[in-house]
Amino acid sequence: MPQLGFGVWQVPDAEAERVVGDALEAGYRSVDTAAVYGNERGTGRAVNGSGLPREELFVTTKLWNGPDRRWDRDAVLRAFDDSLGKLGLDHVDLYLIHWPRPMRDDFLTIWKTFEEIAASGRARAVGVSNFRPADLERLGAESSLVPAVNQIELHPLFPQPELRALHARLGIATEAWSPLGQGKELLELPAVAAVAAKHGRSAAQVVLRWHLQLGTIVIPKSVTPSRIRENLDVFGFELDAEDLAALDALGADGRRIGPDPAVFD
Ligand code: NAD
Repeated sequence: MPQLGFGVWQVPDAEAERVVGDALEAGYRSVDTAAVYGNERGTGRAVNGSGLPREELFVTTKLWNGPDRRWDRDAVLRAFDDSLGKLGLDHVDLYLIHWPRPMRDDFLTIWKTFEEIAASGRARAVGVSNFRPADLERLGAESSLVPAVNQIELHPLFPQPELRALHARLGIATEAWSPLGQGKELLELPAVAAVAAKHGRSAAQVVLRWHLQLGTIVIPKSVTPSRIRENLDVFGFELDAEDLAALDALGADGRRIGPDPAVFD
């Protein structure tokens, strides 16, 4: 899986083909979508129309295990078929459980079906998203299949060191969602601007560099061609220990932007 990929949350389906097409043209080879984003069709059209060999592309989608259904085996298999159909693909590279929804107590049932999907080869790998330590431990107690990744909110304002350490111990790759903090407050902070000025780079670029040097997988989103290219152009410089310490200091209080998985349903 490429360490830097492209996220498409909030990209309307009608725009997704153009936006993902721009990203592939710029050099991204990994795309992160989800059933609930409503843009699997446009994303799939860009992937299938890119002219790139399928094996060079890494496509992730996610099961929207929302409260609208009882997530038994059939419902999961139907949702997976639906995603593949919309994407126009015969397999995805990674299929994720979008949220643990611990109050529903059904992610173990879902995971058993994910084991089946992985064994069929229609998802080359399966993983989870927004899982907390307790959720990962429950999964580990019931299944010998370790999630390939846990995709979690992660950025300098919410660096999640304990969860990252647990991932390392369990052999789960950490994937950061909202890696730029959704382009809001984080990119305006003086500490980020100072590191950016030192390297002659943008705030977004130094934040992405922080992730890469931490070893996490990142999937920044933009619909703007110049920013799509800018976010990929992060391999020609390196942050030093002082820069990393300045960015690490921003996370001392650990503030989420998105929902808390303990209560999100
Ligand atoms: P992000 O942190 O990638 O920020 C994206 C926003 O930052 C853009 O909309 C734009 O406003 C701004 N931006 C982007 N590039 C910029 C640049 N170079 N300079 C200045 N501003 C820039 O936020 P995100 O979209 O929330 O997260 C990335 C991806 O993570 C999503 O698209 C989605 O694929 C995934 N995601 C997953 C979950 C989950 O529950 N699993 C939740 C949220 C997001």
